[in-house]
Formats: sequence, structure tokens, C-alpha cells
Amino acid sequence: MTQFWTKKSEEEIKKIVFNALDKNINYDKEGVIGVPASYLDDKVFNQDATFLKDAPFMYALVKNPNHIGCHTLGNSESFFEGTHAIEKDLIEICAVDILKGIPHEQDGYVASGGTEANIQAIWIYRNYYMQQMNASRDEIAIVCSKDSHYSMDKAANLLSINIHKYDVNEHTREITAASVEQTLTSAKNKGIKYFIVVANMMTTMYGSVDNIETIIDSLKKLKCEYKIHVDGAYGGFYYPFTIKNNLLTFQNPEITSFTLDAHKMAQSPYGTGIFLIRKGFMKYVNTQEASYVEGQDFTLVGSRSGANAIAVWMILAKNGPYGWQEKIFILQKRAEWICKELEQLNIKYYRNPMSNIVTIGSSYLNPELVKKYGLVPDNHVSPKWYKIVIMEHVTVDKLALFINDIKETV
Ligand SMILES: *Cc1c(COP(=O)(O)O)cnc(C)c1O
Repeated sequence: MTQFWTKKSEEEIKKIVFNALDKNINYDKEGVIGVPASYLDDKVFNQDATFLKDAPFMYALVKNPNHIGCHTLGNSESFFEGTHAIEKDLIEICAVDILKGIPHEQDGYVASGGTEANIQAIWIYRNYYMQQMNASRDEIAIVCSKDSHYSMDKAANLLSINIHKYDVNEHTREITAASVEQTLTSAKNKGIKYFIVVANMMTTMYGSVDNIETIIDSLKKLKCEYKIHVDGAYGGFYYPFTIKNNLLTFQNPEITSFTLDAHKMAQSPYGTGIFLIRKGFMKYVNTQEASYVEGQDFTLVGSRSGANAIAVWMILAKNGPYGWQEKIFILQKRAEWICKELEQLNIKYYRNPMSNIVTIGSSYLNPELVKKYGLVPDNHVSPKWYKIVIMEHVTVDKLALFINDIKETV
């Protein structure tokens, strides 16, 4: 049973969103003159268009609430407290109902994307080690798999810390205890004492999921100091709905934080990465110099659109938890369908059975087919794999056309 996530009718959603916007600052009707913010330019964006009355997201866009800061920490900009409440509810839905956390025991915010959420996590742990353990930057490293998203490399570069990656098996895309231990040992030999571990909950290219127990066993065996972040930018709105005994949740005490991206599998507007972390950690990135912001700023991004948080909340509320389960169930069925077809054609592919990404060896595909179906390579210079991503619009009808074409070329 979900505690925060309930299915709501369009009418209920409208009422909640319009009421929330009403509680925000109203630049028109109130005498507020001190805020460097306003509604969208009404010479371009009509504020009174009748359609806005039935379009809560569009209305939120026009009203343009700023969700600067992290609202689960308590104090935030009171000008926008109406819609902050919707974002707080969204954070509870994700942290508690999707990732099995205890209510109100996590902090979080809607980030610009998975990239920012991953950097936010790594930034927090870097500062934690520096402030709590007196670590120097060259003693801290990110460790993750070769299939991890490139935002880890961005984070290492921006935060001036090391990054070490373990190998994955070419065919199964799995990490092994040997590869993890080898990477940890080699990092230790280079003077690394503090590890920021990023585990994948579905990689971008393969949909592969790291075995968290392998990682933890190796870290313990080698007596490493570590914090674990889970990158669920791709898988966060998918994998928890397909796997039975999910070890990648807040119930796992080894994991401290998560990234989810609503603009990947949840079909929300761009700008909807979701960062979630256990309480007690946001303080390591408090920018106290943000003194003009009520509640200060504990996020990487600064000003951000409140309409984004509202969009994700509306999507989850409209589908409801069972609707979501059904949506994912259909995508799984389609993925199973194409895998069976590929098997009959003896075409080599990779798929994590809990995921909706099917990756095909490049030798089975000619350039025309790749172009016609918009298949995405692992590498644009010398592709080894191309992926199919079973999204809402990737129906069996479309997959069948592809299978027919590939039959003629194999
Ligand atoms: C897409 C993705 C990211 C980055 O997300 P953006 O929203 O593009 O910044 C990070 N990790 C994984 C696994 C992803 O799939």
C-alpha cells in the first residue's frame, strides 16, 4: 500500500494545483515590490486565456513559481509555499512509496536532471569526507562501473576528485567481485582512502543493474570507507516496478542517496531530475552565503521552475500506483515480444529481464536500418551495440516493422 501516492481524478488534480498556486505570491493583486521575479511576460504569454482554467500545468508555467532551495529541510521562500507543498509531496511519493523509505526521513528536490542529481550526491559526500574526516581531495575517489553515465566524469572534473571504474563483462554487462576488488585495490594503492560509490539502477546504454551485494562485499572485504549513491536516472521509474526483491531502496541501510529522472521514463518535461538523500546529509552543501534566500540554498542549481515539480506530481497522481504498474507491465510485454523475435532470428542481443532496453550487436544491423529506426549506438565512432528503448510510443506495431526489415537483411 502506498502512503502518499494515490490516484487522483483530473478535477482533484486541478483543484490541488490551483489552490497551491493561489497560496503563492500574487504579483498582480499584492503590493509586493522586492522580489526579482514575476509572471511570464504577458505580451507573449496570455495570462487570461480561457484554456488556462483547464490546464493546471500551463497555468503554473505562466505564474512561474520559483522553487529555489530544498523544501524538505523546513524553511523555504514563503512567496512560493503553496507549490512547495506539492514538491514535498512528490519527494515523499518517490522516497517512500517508490523507494521504501520511512516517511519524512529523506530530503530531496527536483533538480535540472540526472546529471545535477548525481553531482549533488557526489558533492555532498566529498564535503562530508572533507569536513568529517579531514580528508584532502586527492584521498577521495568516485568508483563506478565502465557502463556508468558520463555525469560521474563531469562530477570528478568539477569537484577535483579522482574517478576509478571497474570493468563489466562484455556480454552480460555484469560487474564481478574480481573487477570491483581490483579497482578498489588499485585506488587504495594510489592513496585513495574515501570512496564515493555510484551503483547503477539501469544503465543508459544497456539497462543493466549493478549487483549491490557484490559491491558492498568487496568494499567491506577491503575495509574501505564508503558512501553509496544509486543512479536511477534511467531506471528509477521502471526497475522498482519490475523487480520483486529490490535491494536498491532506502530499506537497504548501505545506500544513502538516489537519483531518479522523471524526464526519462515518466514522460515529464525536461528539468525534472529527482534527488533523494537520507536526512542529515544536505547540510554538507549548505551555501550560507545565499543569505538573501529564505532558508538558504542546499542545492546545486539555484532558481528553478516550480512548474516542473507540479508536472511530475500530476503525472504520478493521474496514473496512480496501479496505473503505473500497468504501464510498466505493458512495456515489459513489448520488450519480451521483440526479444523472442530476435531469438528466432538468431540475433545476439543484451537485455536485463527487468528492463525495457534491448541492445543489439552492431554486426546484425546495416546503416540504413539504423537510420530508419533511429537506433542509438554505444559509441558514434566505432559502434559495437545499438539500442532499442521500449517507450510509450514504441508499440509492437512499430517493433514488427523493424523485425520485418531485419529479416530481409540478416
Ligand atoms: C540520462 C541519465 C543520466 C543523466 O541525466 P540527464 O537528465 O540527462 O542529466 C544519468 N544517469 C543515467 C543512468 C542516465 O540514464
